[in-house]
Amino acid sequence: MEIKYKVKNCWEAAGDSDKSEVTPFCEGYKNFMDNAKTEREAASLAVMLAEQKGFRDIDSVTALKKGDKIYIKNRGKSVMLAVMGEDSLKGFNIVAAHIDAPRIDLKQNPLYEDLELAFFKTHYYGGIKKYQWLAIPLSIHGVIVLGDGTKVNVIVGEDDSDPVFCITDLLPHLAQEQMGKKMSEAVTGEGLNLLVGSIPGKDEKDKVKGAVLELLHDKYGICEEDFISAELEIVPSSKARDLGFDRSMIAAYGQDDRVCAYTALAGILETENPSKTAICMLADKEEIGSMGNTGMKSRFFEDSVAKIISLEKAAKGEAYNDLMIRQAFASSFCLSADVGAAVDPNYKDVSELSNAPRINGGVMITKYTGSKGKANSSDASAELVGRIRKLFNDNKIIWQIGELGKVDQGGGGTVAQDLANLNIETVDCGVPLLSMHSPMEISGKMDVYMAYKAYKAFYSSI
Ligand code: MN
Ligand code: MN
Repeated sequence: MEIKYKVKNCWEAAGDSDKSEVTPFCEGYKNFMDNAKTEREAASLAVMLAEQKGFRDIDSVTALKKGDKIYIKNRGKSVMLAVMGEDSLKGFNIVAAHIDAPRIDLKQNPLYEDLELAFFKTHYYGGIKKYQWLAIPLSIHGVIVLGDGTKVNVIVGEDDSDPVFCITDLLPHLAQEQMGKKMSEAVTGEGLNLLVGSIPGKDEKDKVKGAVLELLHDKYGICEEDFISAELEIVPSSKARDLGFDRSMIAAYGQDDRVCAYTALAGILETENPSKTAICMLADKEEIGSMGNTGMKSRFFEDSVAKIISLEKAAKGEAYNDLMIRQAFASSFCLSADVGAAVDPNYKDVSELSNAPRINGGVMITKYTGSKGKANSSDASAELVGRIRKLFNDNKIIWQIGELGKVDQGGGGTVAQDLANLNIETVDCGVPLLSMHSPMEISGKMDVYMAYKAYKAFYSSI
């Protein structure tokens, strides 16, 4: 081992086989991103890919034994996958990522008309810089539950022949007052109104709104009240693209955290007969605090693990009891797979360069997140970081350390604390991004590929 620690650049340090595999791997990732722009789409695509690899719905099995592959769906918005090891009571190897991303949701009663233009009222989801969402093409994805209970799926704005939508911005010529405001106040939450139509219909009043409703009724069979039981999400309509003359990076919406979700998924889909039971958890609602029954704090995770253990016990003719899940968690390890803030040469002063992750520096191990003195961080132990570091070194996985900005610069958290609170050894491990939470986040292809290799090696570790 070198005496000095130095972050490597993967494009220099990686072996030839890694260099030849990174591009095809990232093509699969980009394809996933174009077809998984919401948590619902990511969850159903994960299930589809899992079924192709022989994973079965847990509801269709009556017992589980080593090598079995199952998935457990949670309300179409989150999903757990598992490949059975010898004995789950010896602990699990868990990779937990989230499949929701910052976006803009429609309000429950969204449609209105102003000066003969029709708009949707919105409420943003997660931490966005509002000005970034103006004057870019947007699409609408989601579900509408009709009055009779029928569910209609909606995707508009992705196909080249689809229309797109937009939140307008003020022209610079008339923006003197706006430009003098603080960035956090120049665009308001109530100002994020989505432009959706302009042709007047036959109604006496609100003619354009009426005409838009007519169109929606013809296409989806919906009336205005149906919006109340809908979840419609506004996301950038752009596709994932290579970035740079050298195509070394990926520009895409939603890489926080679908880059870790995809790599965690790709890893478990290739896991065969692990010694310990491998679990890939794809959770919802991380961007708004992991709450609710599809978030990481939900009992879904524990209930699903209990189900796995009880089916494993059933195969041996033994009964499940509550101590078993506690014993299993106490022996488990988890990589909380989430993105980090790559140092940005244009904004270096928010990072401390000896500890900040670099684009293409490899998969990132983050001992603690939090803010103001590590608050709300689970702060992984030296023993755990040592174990993971050794695993990665042994498997020729290029890794780097990461922290979320300078001390007292700001901060944030991940699902690591939720897993750690269950008495599971947990450390953050993911991909550094530039422009995180923007409509076009940037990752380094080598980091994406190293994350996949890292999660794959971890699932099968002893
Ligand atoms: Mn995240
Ligand atoms: Mn985030």
